[in-house]
Amino acid sequence: MLSFLKKYLFPLLFGCSSITAQATIMFNPIYDDVNNNTGIGFDDPTIVGPNGLTLGQQRQDTLQGVFKYINTVINENGTFNLEVGSLSTSSPSTPSNSDNIIAGQPPLVYSSLSMDNTPTNDILAQGGANYLIQNGFNNSFPSIHITTGDNPCGEGNSLCPGVPSDVTIPDATIQFNFDQNWNSSLDAPAFDQYDLFTVALHEIAHDLGFDSFISETGASIYADQYGINAYTTYDSHLVLGDGTPLIPLINSAGIFDVSPSALTSNNVFFSGEHANAANGGNPIQVYAPSTWEQGSSLVHLNNPSDLMYYLIYPGTEKRTFSDVDLGILQDLGYNLHSANNGGNGGDNGSGGQTPPSNVPEPSSLALFLLGSIFIYSRRNLYSVI
Ligand SMILES: [Zn+2]
Repeated sequence: MLSFLKKYLFPLLFGCSSITAQATIMFNPIYDDVNNNTGIGFDDPTIVGPNGLTLGQQRQDTLQGVFKYINTVINENGTFNLEVGSLSTSSPSTPSNSDNIIAGQPPLVYSSLSMDNTPTNDILAQGGANYLIQNGFNNSFPSIHITTGDNPCGEGNSLCPGVPSDVTIPDATIQFNFDQNWNSSLDAPAFDQYDLFTVALHEIAHDLGFDSFISETGASIYADQYGINAYTTYDSHLVLGDGTPLIPLINSAGIFDVSPSALTSNNVFFSGEHANAANGGNPIQVYAPSTWEQGSSLVHLNNPSDLMYYLIYPGTEKRTFSDVDLGILQDLGYNLHSANNGGNGGDNGSGGQTPPSNVPEPSSLALFLLGSIFIYSRRNLYSVI
């Protein structure tokens, strides 16, 4: 318990964002490596720059650069508590109890690619947001916290009762595999280096909502274990090539009813007002390869030049969202600084947040409200290409 408390002691970043009228998301990174004195990753003491700049600090500075960039495009005032770690050192967080089922999304992985462009089994990084798992379409904790200001697991919030007031539960987690060859600075990556800025931005985008609860069978990944037909807001925008929405195809038993073959058809698209506007009026093809790849299928775009492609090549930097990415973020409920995706989005001040179309079924709702279980899990790593 002591280590848990120590790990999540609030990083004292209060109170520096309310001076100007400019909307600013307050990012609170929680560095596992630093809190656990691992000496690696974001705590690496190797001197890499003037004035004693350490590699660990340089990596933290680069993450700050990512946060700064996000604040130039997303126009929101909320907060994002982000746990940041190394793949080998981070352990899942385990809050004590709750009346609700809160689960960490199984890791969404970002694969590395060898120099001859052969996919490897090495995971470069992974991200996962936390959710309150309910029937219907769910928003990630980062999305809720950023767009509404409500901390889903904050003090006094009923979603996570029992959490001590001086403990910060992360909204999401990102982890990096520092056994790989990284460019940790803001300089351009060398030909054989993965770009930390690019990979961090990609993973954070997953945490913001580029995320799916659809399993290989088409059922929710939470259906078997908990009997909850939970999907993400992102899932609510997925359609087949003929425009048929995936998720509304739920049968009378409340079970997702799309042929699993549709999920491996190379024929799945994200369709939303702003995303489509940024794509010439057309839905955007998502990654739906002929072999299902848990943690990669559906949650990536099929365009190799896009930040949200499922692979990254060494020597590549993609340090901005594409217009399509921004359109998707807008369709997921974020206000942007500029309406660059057609439509009337951006600064309309209407709150942008599209209420999730929850379709709770009383029986299962009661089941998990009465169950007094708190599940906050991260699954084992998936092996992907
Ligand atoms: Zn990814």
